[in-house]
Amino acid sequence: MIDLKVNLLQVLKSLPEIVKLVAVSKTHPVEDILELYDAGQRVFGENRVQEFIEKYPKLPTDIEWHFIGHLQTNKVKQIVPLVHTIHSVDSFKLLKEIDKEAAKVQRCISCLFEFHIADEDSKFGLNLNSASEFLSSPEYFALKNVQIIGVMGMATFTDDHNQVRIEFRKLRSIFDSLRQAFFVSDKRFKEISMGMTLDYPIAIEEGSTMVRIGSAIFGERTSIR
Ligand SMILES: *Cc1c(COP(=O)(O)O)cnc(C)c1O
Repeated sequence: MIDLKVNLLQVLKSLPEIVKLVAVSKTHPVEDILELYDAGQRVFGENRVQEFIEKYPKLPTDIEWHFIGHLQTNKVKQIVPLVHTIHSVDSFKLLKEIDKEAAKVQRCISCLFEFHIADEDSKFGLNLNSASEFLSSPEYFALKNVQIIGVMGMATFTDDHNQVRIEFRKLRSIFDSLRQAFFVSDKRFKEISMGMTLDYPIAIEEGSTMVRIGSAIFGERTSIR
């Protein structure tokens, strides 16, 4: 049997104080989440809408839920009343939909722009030009129920540490560019969400402020997703 609390404490011990841990609970049962909740963890991440909305009512309401997976616009409505932060904003259509649904329930959702930094076609994400264009548009200024708090990215799945480092560095530089150009007076734009079980030590060295860690805490997932 794996001891989830021991895993959690070990991960927490390895993180600098300013780095926020998102415990990625996808595929794992509510009992496991509760065990970590009892150990003090309050921030959890899920990547599937259906799974998330099934778990949500079975868990304490003071959990800070982060949605980290690809999100289709037609499913935004289901999660907006429940989530605190969405890491995976990979289109402006999606951001506008989040804003629209958040307005209906009078919430403001923290959002991160997801950037494509990996050397893999399958991953979703924006590029610096498209993000800059949108942030300069009147459409963006009209959004009142979303707050852009930073950027998110996933490195290539490879044991080439140097490549992973270069990709994280790229995300860091995108963050710096956007902050400089659009958020100098907005202190809430401060998050760089990068680093998972296998690569988070490198991500931290490259400036991560939020790590999304699943298997190092919950153990291996039986399904790949
Ligand atoms: C599953 C997942 C993680 C966590 O992955 P681990 O390797 O289990 O730590 C982080 N980010 C996203 C977007 C994920 O889907």
